[in-house]
Amino acid sequence: MNDVPTPVDAEQRRSARPIVCYRTDQLPAYQPDRYVKARESMVRVAEVLVEPRDAQTFTVKAGQFFRIVSVEGSQVGDLNLWNANDLSERFFSGKTRQLHASHVSTGDRLWSNLPGLRPMATITHDTLAWYGWDSDGAGVHDVIGTRCDPYTNYQLQAVHYHHCCHSNLTRALAAHLSVPLTEAEPHVHDVLNVFMCTGFTLDTHQYFMKASPVRPGDYIEFFAEIDLLGGLSACPGGNCGSSHSDDSTPCFPLLVEVYQPPDGSMGDWQAPPINGYDRTHGV
Ligand SMILES: [Zn+2]
Repeated sequence: MNDVPTPVDAEQRRSARPIVCYRTDQLPAYQPDRYVKARESMVRVAEVLVEPRDAQTFTVKAGQFFRIVSVEGSQVGDLNLWNANDLSERFFSGKTRQLHASHVSTGDRLWSNLPGLRPMATITHDTLAWYGWDSDGAGVHDVIGTRCDPYTNYQLQAVHYHHCCHSNLTRALAAHLSVPLTEAEPHVHDVLNVFMCTGFTLDTHQYFMKASPVRPGDYIEFFAEIDLLGGLSACPGGNCGSSHSDDSTPCFPLLVEVYQPPDGSMGDWQAPPINGYDRTHGV
């Protein structure tokens, strides 16, 4: 409720020019040419099928590629990424959003949390790149939503639902690490919403979803900049065209494929070091 009087110079204040917060030309440049040779001749070395309303973990070595592939039906996925050698370094969706945009595609990077703040993965191909922005202001592959979770669902519906992406990722990570759920759960973090079509409503600026344009055969491809442990949940929302956090929507599997490029095909590429800030914080 707004009961605050509008100042006389409100329009003048609102007319300040928007300034993009971070200059993308200061980020490491995306050089598509450097991936061409590797992508042409890379070989699939592993695959993991993620069942509907469930999650799986997978590992990708630095210098390998991985794809998340739509199979059988239109389905969105929730992706977590960790440094495979140090789980405290993980995907930072908030900073990725600020450095790139609310939705990511080819050429964008997935950045890690502080203090690492380095590219964990680079998106090297996206068969949904054609989608762009639709008339509702929606795009695909967002880094604005978090993940469907049983706590929010309980708050809103007072039911215990156990196959939200948060729970799926928690179970999968616990199984991978052979640790209790309570030990795995704090590692689960805000996701890249793969294939999900989302935006903010133009009138009330609320987060919305609409049926994903993804179809079987579509995929998004990443280059692993560091050794990665991934977690992928096939969201109970299916294509997220109606509901989520329940069993009412048709759901389909997602396939993760890992590819090995030939030795030497990435030229002088090297895994990025962690961030160079000296961490003295003014002391
Ligand atoms: Zn979900």
